[in-house]
Amino acid sequence: MCGITGIYSHKPVAPELYESIIHLQHRGTDASGIMTYDERMHKEKGMGLARDIFTKDNLSLLTGNIGISHNRYPTHGEFGHGEIQPVWTSVPYGIGMAHNGQITNYDELVEEVTKTEKRYLNTTSDTEVILHIFAEELNKNGNPETSEEFFDVLCDVVSTLFKRVRGAYSITSIIVGKGLVVFRDPRGIRPLVKGERDNNGKKDYIFASENTMFYSMGYEPTGNVIPGELIYVDNDGKVFSKRLVKEEFNPCIFEYVYFARPDALLNDVGVYRSRLRMGQNLAYAWMKKYPNVTPDIVIPAPSTANTSALAFAHEIGVRYSEGLYKNHFIGRTFIMPGQEERKRSVRHKLVPQETEIRNKKVMIVDDSIVRGNTSIEIVKMVKDFGAKEVYFVSACPPVQHPCFYGVDMPTREELIASDKSENRIKEILGVDILMYQEIDDLVEAVTRRGDNHIKTPCMACLDGHYVVNGRKVHELVKDV
Ligand code: SF4
Repeated sequence: MCGITGIYSHKPVAPELYESIIHLQHRGTDASGIMTYDERMHKEKGMGLARDIFTKDNLSLLTGNIGISHNRYPTHGEFGHGEIQPVWTSVPYGIGMAHNGQITNYDELVEEVTKTEKRYLNTTSDTEVILHIFAEELNKNGNPETSEEFFDVLCDVVSTLFKRVRGAYSITSIIVGKGLVVFRDPRGIRPLVKGERDNNGKKDYIFASENTMFYSMGYEPTGNVIPGELIYVDNDGKVFSKRLVKEEFNPCIFEYVYFARPDALLNDVGVYRSRLRMGQNLAYAWMKKYPNVTPDIVIPAPSTANTSALAFAHEIGVRYSEGLYKNHFIGRTFIMPGQEERKRSVRHKLVPQETEIRNKKVMIVDDSIVRGNTSIEIVKMVKDFGAKEVYFVSACPPVQHPCFYGVDMPTREELIASDKSENRIKEILGVDILMYQEIDDLVEAVTRRGDNHIKTPCMACLDGHYVVNGRKVHELVKDV
């Protein structure tokens, strides 16, 4: 899924980019990187958690007041040191770029970039392709001198890029000698929020995948980068912005289900609140469908589901219990590469509390069931510890289709609901009752307040309707 940040500040920016990576660590633990510039570009990146990559010493070498950062989660491309972002090119100016999302016409664009534009691609990362398209278009556009002229050029460059690049992309970029550039794909699939703060009478600006670091760094949220919008902060802190295209707004609904941190505000929707409402809607559906089945206890599959489980328990009037203790020092299973690792890590990560489980009718609330491995293991553990009956509800409807917009669930075979009925999944999980959230109830939970602009979120992994160009599954499979 990845996390990105871009900061324009009136003080050295590297320590705050590091803090941003820490606050976005849940969006990717594979690798991270920071890039800054003053007279020249400075970068540091590595594999693993931010705290293992960055030190006081290497951060002190990242001088400059403008910079970008990236948390990597596996999406497109192989994974080696070269794939770690930000990526960069020296022509024109010196450009660094960080990307959250995934593009769907990668092969076509690789052809254009390497054969027509004669650029060399050093990695299989789709970010590098976006970078070269951006650089190529910028290079064609003369030598603008003033910031106003440069912004006009950027508008042309990004407008062309929007036409050429399909898929999901939120971008932060630095251009040496010019400033900070951010833009978000016309459908706004991946989030990108913004904030500002007063710095001794001058303004600092931040752009990030989530606003999770704003409070600790003293930034006030100022909304979202609008889908199809380009924002440029020049070297002197002057801000230019323009919405270059307007298409339907289709933000990823899975951000609310699983990815984003509960304290994030994305697209004007509080993630925590949306998860409470998911639990509430699920409870209403449960009471309607199973009026005579009441569990003794409601246990979340920790920890993303905690919020929904809390609301679910409240609505059905049953005690909420942290019956599965989570060891927080082990990473999130869904973002660990490799099935075996995922299976092993569930037992290392979760410890059932017998006093909460034995001889009870246990309701497990999970945020979603993707591959099913974690759910199967959780049910086994709860049964091992003496549950009398086990019910399982998912705050997300069945995940039946792969995502081509930046979430690592690329093959149908890996998705337990892609070819199995609910009844069959119930058998595989080994539960007495399985119930999924309905799609309409999920959408209602995310959009209930009405003070956002989301009419149709991306739900392609749930309903198979791929929002970019309205293309169908099989067409996208050929592309990616
Ligand atoms: Fe999000 Fe699913 Fe759409 Fe991917 S397909 S962007 S995970 S809603």
